[in-house]
Amino acid sequence: MKNSSQKTREELIFEIKELKKTIKNLKSKLNDSFFQSAIDLTQEDIDLITQEETDAILKGDKQGNFIYANQFASKITGFTKSEMLNMNIRDIFHPNILKSSPLRFDLVNSGTTVKIQREITKKNKEVLLVEMVSKKIADENIITILHDVSEKKKLHSALKESEFKYKVLFDTLPYGAEVLSTEGIILDVSLGTLKMLGYEKNEMINKHISQFIHKKSIKTFKEKFSNIKKGNKESAEICLVRKDGTKISVLRAAQPILNKQDEISSILTLSLDMSKIKKAEQMLLEKNKEFEKQNQEYILLNHELNIAKEKAEESNRLKSAFLANMSHEIRTPMNGIIGFSQLLNTPGISEEKITEYTSIILKSGNHLLNIINDIIDISKIDAGQFNISKSIININSSLRELFIFFQSFKKIKEGLKLKINLPLTNKYTNILTDQTRFLQIFTNLINNAIKFTDEGFVEFGYKIEKEDFIFYVKDTGIGIKKEMQTIIFDRFMQASTNTEKLYGGTGLGLAICKACTELLGGEIWMESKLGQGSIFKFTIDTKTSTNPIIKNNPKININTAYSNKKVLVVEDDKDSFSYIEAILNEKKINFIHVDTAQKAIDTVNKDKISLILMDIQLPGKDGNYAIREIKKTHPNIHIIVQSAYTFENEKEKSFEAGCDDYLVKPIRKKDLTEKIFQYLQEIR
Ligand code: ADP
Repeated sequence: MKNSSQKTREELIFEIKELKKTIKNLKSKLNDSFFQSAIDLTQEDIDLITQEETDAILKGDKQGNFIYANQFASKITGFTKSEMLNMNIRDIFHPNILKSSPLRFDLVNSGTTVKIQREITKKNKEVLLVEMVSKKIADENIITILHDVSEKKKLHSALKESEFKYKVLFDTLPYGAEVLSTEGIILDVSLGTLKMLGYEKNEMINKHISQFIHKKSIKTFKEKFSNIKKGNKESAEICLVRKDGTKISVLRAAQPILNKQDEISSILTLSLDMSKIKKAEQMLLEKNKEFEKQNQEYILLNHELNIAKEKAEESNRLKSAFLANMSHEIRTPMNGIIGFSQLLNTPGISEEKITEYTSIILKSGNHLLNIINDIIDISKIDAGQFNISKSIININSSLRELFIFFQSFKKIKEGLKLKINLPLTNKYTNILTDQTRFLQIFTNLINNAIKFTDEGFVEFGYKIEKEDFIFYVKDTGIGIKKEMQTIIFDRFMQASTNTEKLYGGTGLGLAICKACTELLGGEIWMESKLGQGSIFKFTIDTKTSTNPIIKNNPKININTAYSNKKVLVVEDDKDSFSYIEAILNEKKINFIHVDTAQKAIDTVNKDKISLILMDIQLPGKDGNYAIREIKKTHPNIHIIVQSAYTFENEKEKSFEAGCDDYLVKPIRKKDLTEKIFQYLQEIR
């Protein structure tokens, strides 16, 4: 192997000249300053320079045995210069590398410059990627230059990676993004922009950005763009035009991108679709409204809950007061009944006393019955069983009857006059309603009016206002304080704390009146002046009928004796019969009494009976059996059931059997006489 030191200066200069030629061709590709310098320098110069440079220069013979290695060759390979001069170029490669990428001495020897990237194996077995250029020179030897490219490669891949990241970021941004030249030409455009404007990439690249800006925003764009070119960041809301010609408002931010020399190389713009923001704002606004609404509902609910709570507390308080009041209300007549019943047994009691005591007992009994009826009505209202059954009635006739009833059976105070006002003639006063409930309202109101009026008058009837019936009960009594006027319709409410003491009562009557008017499709209200009197008014749904079948005959005269009519009383209970007997005798009505169902059937077959008062609970066959049998043969005989049952289905059973009417025990005298007259009248 020849040593480099054995070479003459001329030889080396020659070789370098050769090398100069070779690397001149490679220069542009390798872009390595070393070659430029190396070309014109001497061996010493080369050694000197290569100490500072990074390339290894090796010279080998045709077989690859090194005959020269510069200083840097040692650095790159790890072998000393003298070691290298005893080595072959193959010794710095792993055999596998040589297999996959042969050195191609054949090509080099034939004069080809071979340039290739390969990994060498250093003395310490580390692997290093080098760029290797081999060229045969004039003396038939081969010059090889090794250039460490591992750093370059790293740099390259780092650059590639960052480029990739930039690309991914650019395309996945939720905004539109563009890279512009300083002249405004689009160099790159993100998927976001393409999606936003509806273009393909090639339709935007190399076009001027202003082509995509709406004319109304051009002025702003120009101002901002010239500012960016001065190195400033800018943002503005501008209007763009989509491919389909529609407008889109975007918030655009832009800033210059500087190169190494701090010069503006390009401009990056980001555009945010304002419609999305506006939509989001709108959604936020709607959510806010929804929230507000919900809040309001909660407040309202809370308010309602508070009211309900207060009501519950109030109702609890009222119920306690009611119980206290009620026990007094019930005890008073009960004491009357029990006390005076005992007195009736006094030996040698005078006729006079008997009349007095029985009248007190009767009054107390009636009073008690009224209270019990009110309580039952209120419970039915609460249970939703306060039913109505409508028929055609004549208002005038019904109210006239009521007037007669009050005149005849109610003791009206001296100095108090009862008046009635019926402005229409009978033929205009047929309506479809529930007579019982209708009269119940009037009865309650008239009772109150009489109760709370000592002198003057109580007037009831109706007025016509705008073709509607306004029913009323007016009095010249004690009147009601303004603040109490709305609440007296609530149950258990009395206008003053001493009402109960002075007048008695439970505070249920007006609540029942209110429920009745509502059930009949109307309303109730009142006007009053303390100390001067009150007027209670109400309406009901008054549908008139074109074919009036008036159940009530307006000409009822309850004093008429029905001498030619016979009533059959079917009753097994002695006391109940005595009660009915007394009423029938008083009204001078003929009757027959039987105490079983069978006897009733037999009587009907023998005698001419106009009306039957039928008890249901009888020994043996019950009243419903008798009704069924009788109706089979005598369908025109009216049968009024009087039963202690109050359950709805009991009543239905009797109606199913064929009864015409139904009275619940204990039966009021008034109710019974009214019914008897009504039916006897019908079969006249
Ligand atoms: P009650 O009469 O059993 O107490 P109501 O519900 O019928 O119950 O009446 C409630 C209250 O309204 C009465 O206690 C009374 O204070 C007042 N009121 C009703 N009607 C009249 C009236 N015509 N004049 C004066 N006060 C009345």
